[in-house]
Amino acid sequence: MSGSRKASIVSGYDLVQSLGGRRAATRPAAEAPPPPRPAPAGSVALPTKRDIACPDCGWESHVMGRQSYAVCPKCRKKIDIVDYTVDIDFSGTIATAGAVRLAPGGIVHSGEIRAAIVDLASRVEGGRIVAWHRLDLRAGAVCQPDHIEFRDLRLDAGARLAFTCALACRRLDVAGDLEGEFVVSGEVFLRAGGALRGSLRCAHLTVEDGASLAARLQVGGGDPVVPGP
Ligand SMILES: [Zn+2]
Repeated sequence: MSGSRKASIVSGYDLVQSLGGRRAATRPAAEAPPPPRPAPAGSVALPTKRDIACPDCGWESHVMGRQSYAVCPKCRKKIDIVDYTVDIDFSGTIATAGAVRLAPGGIVHSGEIRAAIVDLASRVEGGRIVAWHRLDLRAGAVCQPDHIEFRDLRLDAGARLAFTCALACRRLDVAGDLEGEFVVSGEVFLRAGGALRGSLRCAHLTVEDGASLAARLQVGGGDPVVPGP
């Protein structure tokens, strides 16, 4: 389900050719013949697409390449698109439209981290972590559900998370061990080796061979229909 990360390659020569072709179609027949074909130019690699989210209001979008700031069209604030790695004991605030990596060895004690993508491989003992776009939970991460918020959750093989309260989110991608009561507006992808227990209501469900699903299920169909009089 993850999008292709391959860079799209457009040959500069192809661009020149397609422009030349369009001009040729409108050129009167009597005009001089077109100039000789240019020598093939080098390839142009289009920059990578990055998911971003306004740390203040959660507006989501994406940018190409290394753009380092933007203005949120929703709340009009200037937002920094900076990626951080935290591998120390941390108490404080990070607000970025980019990604935050909480690396193994670090501990989040208190404060608040708001980012588009949070890659969590450390211990979270306090504070609040808001992943406006997606939370990636890695094997070895230690955290309680009441410290994290996300729209999409990706649980790696070896990662575990158990929710005691019902949770609504947009997408689940589970290769680890997940337990709880979930209402998911989009897709749930249960990968080989992954396990999901509890209760699940979602729009789409994909279960790979070798995954374990032990949950009350409602897939698609929207809200349960209440019979009329
Ligand atoms: Zn905003």
